[in-house]
Amino acid sequence: MNFQRAQSAASDYAPGHGHREYTVSRYRLALDYSVTANLLTGTADLELAAREPLRAVVLDLQAELAVSQVEDGGLPLPFAQSGQHLRITLPNQLPAGTAFTLTIRYTGFPQPLDGPWGSIGWEELADGALTAGQPAGAPTWFPCNDHPADKATYRFEVTVEEEYRVIANGLCSGQTAEAGRRTWIFEQSEPMATYLATVQIGRYEQVRLGAPKPELPPGAPMQLLAAPARLLPKARTALAEQDRIFAAFEDWFGPYPFGSYTVVVTEDKLEIPLEAQTITVLGRNHLGRKSRRLLAHELAHQWFGNSVTAADWQDIWLHEGFATYAEWLWSEAAGRQTADELGEEAWRWLSHKSENLCLVSPGPERMFDDRLYVRGGLALHALRRSAPDNVFFALLRSWTAGFRHGNASTADFLELAGQTYAGTGIDPAAVLEPWLVDKALPPCP
Ligand SMILES: [Zn+2]
Repeated sequence: MNFQRAQSAASDYAPGHGHREYTVSRYRLALDYSVTANLLTGTADLELAAREPLRAVVLDLQAELAVSQVEDGGLPLPFAQSGQHLRITLPNQLPAGTAFTLTIRYTGFPQPLDGPWGSIGWEELADGALTAGQPAGAPTWFPCNDHPADKATYRFEVTVEEEYRVIANGLCSGQTAEAGRRTWIFEQSEPMATYLATVQIGRYEQVRLGAPKPELPPGAPMQLLAAPARLLPKARTALAEQDRIFAAFEDWFGPYPFGSYTVVVTEDKLEIPLEAQTITVLGRNHLGRKSRRLLAHELAHQWFGNSVTAADWQDIWLHEGFATYAEWLWSEAAGRQTADELGEEAWRWLSHKSENLCLVSPGPERMFDDRLYVRGGLALHALRRSAPDNVFFALLRSWTAGFRHGNASTADFLELAGQTYAGTGIDPAAVLEPWLVDKALPPCP
């Protein structure tokens, strides 16, 4: 099988989302949100560059958000909205490579999108709001080029009623209050895919986790917890291991790729935890011992998914297989079940399931199939067991270093594995391909 090195094409997995004709390098989102009315008013400043001669720009934005004005440096531009697209006509054709800006003003009552992945995007909570972008929810709250391979930096200025706290990606760089409303400013200075952008709004109190400041090495990421006051003690207990997971992951996967990590716990129950760049969102139902494995899984996504992002959704196993294997590694390091035991359990579970899933192109409906997660974990376990551990972990660290804050494909992983395993007598592609390409279940590693 030929593994493609796909880059920044419109995705078959999220039809209509993502546009190859241009890139966005920065989003500045000024959002004013009323929790009581679920009314969102936004101004989005985008810095773009044409990748080919450009006469018009098509951005992804759901129609619930009505655009009132588009301009480029003060010059109003004609635009039209239809379905999930905002089409903006440029004054002149721009040659490929030209940088330009767009300012888009919009307002509306944001709604989640229902589709094969359940409910995604902007969602009201009982007393607040969250966004769940993966894989195609970003256009429910801001105009964007919604493709995982078009990464950009972000600034968020989010204004809400004063009793609520806002958490967005990156570091909070300030807040101001006026007339019963408060504006929260966040900077995400590392490149980020649109689906990982998030705003969390609730009656949250925020505390710092992890080692006290004087003990932190310079540049160590800040660990934060935001939760309703009544849930803070329980959440702290649930996250008691997090400092040790951080240390183990940095050892195995290389330095944590961002400046901070915030766990948000919602007052609402959530079906699954949500991943975002620098943030994990848990429901209040995820604080028990049964959910403990999820903490390692979600933290691992900061390396696998958020820093190194699949070039397209067909390679989602590069996120979920790795995060699942991180769970197993942590379980073993914490003195619980070993990776061998968890692998065998997973293999037995898979052996009773139908064999109709191909890991490297699962199809949009099966991107988040449980089988993809554990088969991906098993693929990595098979690779680890094929050679000494130090080779496997060297590969993981080269992977996170070589593609840090970028995009990568399965072909990239196989190529890097081939380089790392050179001299071991093992062909990593031959080990991995039955797991990645075949539908039948290979023998238990
Ligand atoms: Zn995951």
